[in-house]
Amino acid sequence: MKTVLFATSEARPLIKTGGLADVSGALPAALRELGIDCRLLLPGYHAVLAALDNAQEVARFTGLPGLVDSRLLLGAMPDSGVPVYVIDAPAYYLRAGGPYHDAGGVDYTDNAERFGLLSRIAAILCTAESPLEWRPDLLHCNDWQTGLAPAWLHFAGHPVPSVMTIHNLAFQGIFPPALVARLGLPPESFQIDGVEYFGSLSFLKAGLFYADRITTVSPSYAEEIRQEPLGMGLQGLLTTRADQLTGIINGIDTADWNPAGDPHIGSAYSSRALTGKRRCKEALQTDLSLEISPLAPLFGVVSRLTSQKGLDWIIQVAPGIIDRGGQLAILGTGDKAIESALRELVAAYPGRISATIGYDEGLSHRIEAGADIFLMPSRFEPCGLNQMYSLRYGTVPIVHATGGLKDTVEDEVTGFVFHDASAHGLWLAIEQALALHADKGAWKRLMQAGMSRDFSWERSAREYLNLYEDTLAKRQA
Ligand code: ADP
Repeated sequence: MKTVLFATSEARPLIKTGGLADVSGALPAALRELGIDCRLLLPGYHAVLAALDNAQEVARFTGLPGLVDSRLLLGAMPDSGVPVYVIDAPAYYLRAGGPYHDAGGVDYTDNAERFGLLSRIAAILCTAESPLEWRPDLLHCNDWQTGLAPAWLHFAGHPVPSVMTIHNLAFQGIFPPALVARLGLPPESFQIDGVEYFGSLSFLKAGLFYADRITTVSPSYAEEIRQEPLGMGLQGLLTTRADQLTGIINGIDTADWNPAGDPHIGSAYSSRALTGKRRCKEALQTDLSLEISPLAPLFGVVSRLTSQKGLDWIIQVAPGIIDRGGQLAILGTGDKAIESALRELVAAYPGRISATIGYDEGLSHRIEAGADIFLMPSRFEPCGLNQMYSLRYGTVPIVHATGGLKDTVEDEVTGFVFHDASAHGLWLAIEQALALHADKGAWKRLMQAGMSRDFSWERSAREYLNLYEDTLAKRQA
């Protein structure tokens, strides 16, 4: 096991719309640290070509059915130096809007071709037909945009095994059946044991059906998606393939999120020297016009403002938090109704509740550093990052027992985990936390236990590497 091609439609710092970009930016670099020659394959959007202006042409692809001709460039990721193959197909990727839709939020009408090309080239680079000398031992695909690649590998005689990772099951890449012929897929692939999904072509289903192994971003989420409602229509297939479905928690950027060296916060601290955290709390209270009170339990929230994130439950418990002498600092953007409910809360409890509507990376760090307790009552959460940042910053998280939250926070050891999916369930956990917060020694033990946990990418990369090796061994057996 020496080489891996990591095919993805976004990667930080070049192009990002969600968590997929964070994983694609970090995991290949962490795998390289472990001695694997992992290389990225990305579409050549404006931002990608601009950042890799000295990338060299290494191959050309012409005459692929239904797809435009393209060039393959080889460059290096700006921060990590990870080699990256870029598909230069201006007609597909040089668009004024985002990677998937135009500036108005409307999906591009040729997304099947745009990501059909990404999938097709990913597969070709794994076969004897590849124009490159460099050949992967395994193909790692991510989300629907690369979902056809495992199908193409299957029809090419399965030269190497593939792993398909689900970052977001909500997007499945569903297209009219005519695309099957247009993209040159064999007609027999259009069946339930193939790329067909309720009469349409589904890129994601293709990947989940043909890949050797499937992963998602936490063990609990890997279980939850085998049922309704989180399976989003794919629960049957995911149940059938349960033996090949694994959950691996994402890492976090431990350099960016490090209380001992965070340029966004005023006072550095660590689990052995916590004084700086008290100063961060005071600075945050000052910054947000909250009453300066070292003893008031300060609850932090940094989140997209959506019902997925349980913001309605937070709004319901907020008066109770204030009644008990607490304070609440919220940062987020999203649903207009939630934004206006938050503004009403601030008006009702001046000096006790602060709500910053907007996206502010610096403030997100200052809330993580300055708060005592972090609320993350997501209804579902494939992995989640903020609970891990909170643990690292000694900000005790209160989370709903779902997905990655359940897998990263240990009830009463590093945080509080509630099972009853309701505002009442959240409130009971808050009461439990407040009772413990009054006991200084016990609280410090909780903070330090969380701060000692390892959420580095190295740990996750080792799990992926084990999975790759196992996949390769099973195939060769
Ligand atoms: P999701 O990807 O579902 O939004 P995650 O917890 O996995 O949830 O990741 C969210 C990321 O976005 C975190 O890094 C979080 O700090 C950041 N974030 C969310 N909202 C804001 C905001 N308003 N300002 C700054 N950062 C934010």
